[in-house]
Amino acid sequence: MTTSQKLSFDVQLSDHARTAAEREAVLASPGFGKAFTDHMVSIDYTEGTGWHDARLTPYGPLTLDPATSVFHYAQELFEGLKAYRHANGSIVTFRPYANAARFNQSCLRMAMPELPEDTFVEALELLVQADRDWVPTTEGHSLYLRPFIIATQVGLGVNYPSENYRFMVIASPAASYFSGGVKPVSVWLSTEYTRAAPGGTGAAKCGGNYAGAFVAQREAVAQGCDQVVWLDSHEHRYVEEMGGMNLFFVYGDRLLTPALTGTLLPGITRESILTLAGDLGLKAEEGRLSIEEWQAGCESGELTEVFACGTAAVVTPVGSVKGADRAWTVGDGTPGPVTMRIRDELVGIQYGTRPDPHSWIHKI
Ligand code: PMP
Repeated sequence: MTTSQKLSFDVQLSDHARTAAEREAVLASPGFGKAFTDHMVSIDYTEGTGWHDARLTPYGPLTLDPATSVFHYAQELFEGLKAYRHANGSIVTFRPYANAARFNQSCLRMAMPELPEDTFVEALELLVQADRDWVPTTEGHSLYLRPFIIATQVGLGVNYPSENYRFMVIASPAASYFSGGVKPVSVWLSTEYTRAAPGGTGAAKCGGNYAGAFVAQREAVAQGCDQVVWLDSHEHRYVEEMGGMNLFFVYGDRLLTPALTGTLLPGITRESILTLAGDLGLKAEEGRLSIEEWQAGCESGELTEVFACGTAAVVTPVGSVKGADRAWTVGDGTPGPVTMRIRDELVGIQYGTRPDPHSWIHKI
């Protein structure tokens, strides 16, 4: 149930915020998801009352009863998006209402209360405004925003969803994934483990999907690969997505991406690329591709490039593929022209160096 109540945020600024010198030391090499800004946003939900106590407070630990529902039944989910600094100093986010909508879709699947989209975006804006000096000025860097929601009811009853929740937003400065230039990744086809089955939670951004993925990602690394590629749970043949990114297959001027069957995450970068493709004179379609077709396409030369896409790394070329009984190279293993064109276009829109014909940029 989306309530239409308008929440007003209580603002309590930190009296122990990091100094400019301390902040600059962090921003000099932020890595990813390691350091956090001075504030956070919280909003509580109580069954019967709805959302209440919206607040911006100093960043800090939570105190929760050990019997809090989220620790036991993993009723929680999250989002991820970035704030970018433009050359004129202004700060923007990319399609935050798309994240708000996906957040609510995930909430529905996880039997959690939806948050009004405007409140979701207002929470992001408030945090970015309070911590605006944490939005990096270094080219390619950004402030990663992590909205999430946890079930806070205390008790071990397993039959019903929690009656209480907390929504929060935290922020973390992020370096470019491509500080050493765009490097193609090698991928491992996971045939032993699957990520999601029809009717399951694959299309929701819930933490359990990621917890279940670590063992396969560890296997990928043990096989000498950078990332795991998930296949369908029934035949272990059809490509779904890669780790935390969606996949695109390039046949000359035609793009193919796995259709949203309910078992993969509907990426906002993926959806944006489907739209951008048309702008760039490329054909784009959603469909189905088996690992045999992937290999045969690369070997015949018909399948010219493969790339992964997502908020964190934007667009990443896939250079080589390995599975239990097969291995091959995509093209000549180096970043292809279509991949780089799409990447440049998207990064250009995000950083304000290209026009934004679809009004994806949201000024803060
Ligand atoms: N798939 C998974 C499993 C992900 O975690 C992500 C990152 N959110 C994506 C795809 C890409 O989604 P987006 O483009 O919205 O970042």
